[in-house]
Amino acid sequence: MKYFLFFLIIAHGSVFAQPPGKPPAEKFILAIHGGAGSIKKGQMSPETEKLYAAALEQALVAGYTILKNGGSALNAVEAAVKIMEDNPLFNAGKGAVFNNEGVIELDAAVMNGKTLEAGAVTGVTTIKNPVSAARAVMEKTAHVMLAGKGAEKFAAGAGLELVDPAYFFTETRWKNLQKAKEADSVERNQSPEIKSSEGKIGTVGAVALDRSGNLAAATSTGGMSNKKPGRVGDAPVIGAGTYANNSTCAISCTGWGEFYIRLVLAKTISDMMEFGKMSLEQAAGEMVLKRLPALGGDGGLVAIDVNGHCTMPFNTAGMFRGFIKADGKAVVKMYKDGD
Ligand code: ASP
Repeated sequence: MKYFLFFLIIAHGSVFAQPPGKPPAEKFILAIHGGAGSIKKGQMSPETEKLYAAALEQALVAGYTILKNGGSALNAVEAAVKIMEDNPLFNAGKGAVFNNEGVIELDAAVMNGKTLEAGAVTGVTTIKNPVSAARAVMEKTAHVMLAGKGAEKFAAGAGLELVDPAYFFTETRWKNLQKAKEADSVERNQSPEIKSSEGKIGTVGAVALDRSGNLAAATSTGGMSNKKPGRVGDAPVIGAGTYANNSTCAISCTGWGEFYIRLVLAKTISDMMEFGKMSLEQAAGEMVLKRLPALGGDGGLVAIDVNGHCTMPFNTAGMFRGFIKADGKAVVKMYKDGD
């Protein structure tokens, strides 16, 4: 009996492992966000609402297809984020916001929850898909973050697509900058479709749990409209706006970046789970609904734990968000639950 048990452990890694022949776990899940801010019902035209819903669904389905076919959480989050980077509706890649000097500087990060490897780029102006550059930094260098020209040179060498900075330009964001300058404020986004003086939306992110039980997170953004040149937000800072750890959870944040950095928000949630034995929902709720507003910050996040639980708290009026599980039903939301 003793030897039989020993054999079982060697053969399956655990006495509780699935019997041979059983298909891999069905609890895979992907969750995404397209930014948090002043997104209130009735402010967007039905057409704009539909455009956002379709874009979020497209990103969810792309990641789902990868997960369903046994692909990695890392591949799923990269694919979902890339789709949103290519869509001018979001403040990431094409359609990103301008800094104070009228330049678009992009930030992105990815993290692999299995290995705790991470990669990020910051202040890049010519990389079409910053999330892929972040992944290349993680996989092809001994570093975690590359900035500006160095990051762009590396991305070109890694075979990634570079574009003229004009590619990222959108009229909407240019107007946002002029408005922000008039108000002399630093705003993440003011979209004319969302008629609000405090409209703040657009950063994109994704978290996933794959069929092998691995977690990953990715975030991409243009940062905050009218930001100072060289400003780095939370998205590329591992542990602040992006974090993944197979022992706890995967998190991608959106909101006023400085506060996420000061609170080391994503990693703190992971620590609350690991050392404080809190649930994902409790820990994320504590940080986003209490500690963040207590400092004067705002925003939200999407997160998934190792058991596939998902939480998407925010303390703003709304947050573009959605999730998709093994049943393949894409759930997309924008406003507060119940609105
Ligand atoms: N967190 C982003 C930043 O501060 C902006 C956002 O999510 O709206 O760069």
